[in-house]
Amino acid sequence: MSNLIDGNQIAGQIHAELAAKIANVKGRRPCVALVRVGEDPASISYVAKKSKVAAEIGIESRLNILPESTSQAELDALLDRLNADDTVDAILVQAPLPKHLDEQATFNRVSPQKDVDGFSFANLGKLCQEDKSAFTACTPAGILELIKRSGVETRGKRAVVIGRSLIVGKPLALLLMQKGVDATVSVCHSRSENLAAVCAEADILISAVGRPNTVTADMVKEGACVIDVGINRIPCAEKKSGYRLVGDVDFEAVAPKCSKITPVPGGVGPMTVAMLMSNTVKSFLSKTPQK
Ligand code: NDP
Repeated sequence: MSNLIDGNQIAGQIHAELAAKIANVKGRRPCVALVRVGEDPASISYVAKKSKVAAEIGIESRLNILPESTSQAELDALLDRLNADDTVDAILVQAPLPKHLDEQATFNRVSPQKDVDGFSFANLGKLCQEDKSAFTACTPAGILELIKRSGVETRGKRAVVIGRSLIVGKPLALLLMQKGVDATVSVCHSRSENLAAVCAEADILISAVGRPNTVTADMVKEGACVIDVGINRIPCAEKKSGYRLVGDVDFEAVAPKCSKITPVPGGVGPMTVAMLMSNTVKSFLSKTPQK
C-alpha cells in the first residue's frame, strides 16, 4: 500500500545513523541501564527488544531485573547507584511497575541527565520551555519523527490527539505545537464531546487510547495523515499465542481515505525503541569527546 508509513524502515534508518555516530567516538560505548521489576510478560518482551536493538547499534545495555516484591526503598537505592555511576549514560525503568510502587516518584528519582524516557518533571518542564537539551518522551518523539520523515506538512495544520496521558498525549501535544512544527493542536479524551466531529477536522489525527475501533472512517477527513499509537490484543484462534495485535484505528476502512497511515504492528512501536536509543546516544555524546 503506497500510503503506508513503514515504522520499521524509518527506525532502521535512525539505527544506522546512531551506529555511525557511535563509531565516530573514541573509548567506551554508550550504556543504557534497563530496569525491570517483576515478570509482566509485555515488560519482559519490551526490555528484551530494547536490549537487542541496543546491541545491534553498538550500545551496551545493562539489565537490572528485580523481583515483584521489591520495595520502593530498594528500587530507589538501585536508581541512586545508577545515577552515580559515570559509566551509565541512560536509565530506563520499564512501566508498568507493580501496583505497590509509585511510578511517578520513580521516574522523578532518575537523574534528569539520564532520564531518557523523558518522564521526570525536569524533562517535561524543559519540553514546555522548548529547551533542546530535554530528553523527550520516546513515543511522542518517535511519532514526530515519523511525521517529519514521511514528508507530512505540520505548519499551520490542524492536529488532533486522542489521549492525554503523560507518556503519549500530553508531551505529543507540546511537540506538535512547538515553534518550527507549528501545528494547531486539539487534545481529546474520554470526556470530550463530539469526538467524531473534532477528529473529522484533523489534517493529522493521532490516536493513543488503547481501544480497538476508536477511530472509524466517518471520523477521518479525506487525505488526512493518521497515526495509530494503540496496541490492543484481540483473541485470534489462528495465532499460536491466541491473540493478535491491532491498533485503535479501523485500518481497513480508514486507510483508503488517508494520505498516510501507520500500521499496527510496524508503525509507532519501532520508533519508540529508536528514540530510546537516540536519547541514549544524545546523553553519551553530551559528555564524550568526538574523534
Ligand atoms: P492511557 O490509558 O494512560 O491513556 C488513554 C487515553 O485515552 C486517556 O487520556 C483517556 O481519557 C483516553 N480515552 C479512553 N477512552 C476514550 C474514548 N472512548 N474516547 C476518547 N478518549 C478516550 O494510555 P497510554 O497513553 O499509556 O497508551 C495509549 C495506547 O497507546 C495503549 O494502547 C498503549 O498500549 C499504546 N502505547 C503504545 C506505545 C508504542 O510504542 N506503540 C507506547 C505507549 C503506549 P481520560 O484521560 O479521560 O481517561
